Amino acid sequence: MGLRRKLRVEPGTRPDLSNIATDFHGDFESEKAARKQLSENSRRLGDLQQKLYGEGRHALLIVLQGMDAAGKDGTCWHVLSAMNPQGTVVKSFKQPTAEELRHDFLWRIHAHTPGRGEVTVFNRSHYEDVLVVRVHDLVPEAVWSRRYDMINAFEQALTAQGTTILKFFLHISPAEQLRRFEQRLDDPARHWKISEADYAERPYWDAYQTAYEDAMEKCSTDHAPWYVIPSDLKWFRNLAISHIIAKTLDGLDMKLPAPSVDMDKIRALYHEAAKATPA
Ligand code: ATP
Ligand code: MG
Repeated sequence: MGLRRKLRVEPGTRPDLSNIATDFHGDFESEKAARKQLSENSRRLGDLQQKLYGEGRHALLIVLQGMDAAGKDGTCWHVLSAMNPQGTVVKSFKQPTAEELRHDFLWRIHAHTPGRGEVTVFNRSHYEDVLVVRVHDLVPEAVWSRRYDMINAFEQALTAQGTTILKFFLHISPAEQLRRFEQRLDDPARHWKISEADYAERPYWDAYQTAYEDAMEKCSTDHAPWYVIPSDLKWFRNLAISHIIAKTLDGLDMKLPAPSVDMDKIRALYHEAAKATPA
């Protein structure tokens, strides 16, 4: 079975996160063994994004969610460094501002969805409104529990109008999170990444996993599927995500626009210019 099928949350099913290995690495034994495939995936991503941009018919929205230190930043870096910065955007969603809180929860999200020809990566997203908000009782259950349907309707409206949506849950173990916190402690270049909030959230680990399972069960749809990405191994995470994005973009069957000029005429112009230009 292909990686894409294997990691996808089938619509209507509930992923059991406690039974999905966070250190799964498929057929590849090591980062070294995967290196060729990784660079091949990156090359494909670059080509496909050029097509998406040139064709200007489709938009791609990538949603990244996961616990602190799950690798959301690193994934943005990996995926987007394969692409031309022109036509790509990363949007990080932090705690809502006072103004954002005066609106419905999708207001601030909708403003940043990609236009045709663009790729946008959401580092956190509208799913925070059924995750952190639920785990910390920031609004009553009667409010957050109605949001899953709203999210599905919102995503359906986007896809119906040319946006492809891929949603990735970066699945790490608590032990791996702690290792990454330790690396941050040991590396002055990463001290700026440390926050007390990271430690404050750890006791809520199980509540978050349940909230994630619910969100994926209710909101993994054919038009906007969720994928559980085993992410303890960063190279496997990158491999799986770049593979799924490339496969999905392949499926769009994009074509570069036909030239808007008469190519024979342009060739003749070129030769004239070449003749008139001293070597
Ligand atoms: P970093 O990797 O830099 O820590 P981060 O995404 O964790 O990135 P922070 O500034 O540390 O960024 O945290 C942002 C916080 O905002 C997260 O704890 C997240 O849960 C919270 N947040 C995001 N959206 C919402 C929301 N709609 N309601 C409440 N909190 C939210
Ligand atoms: Mg944080």
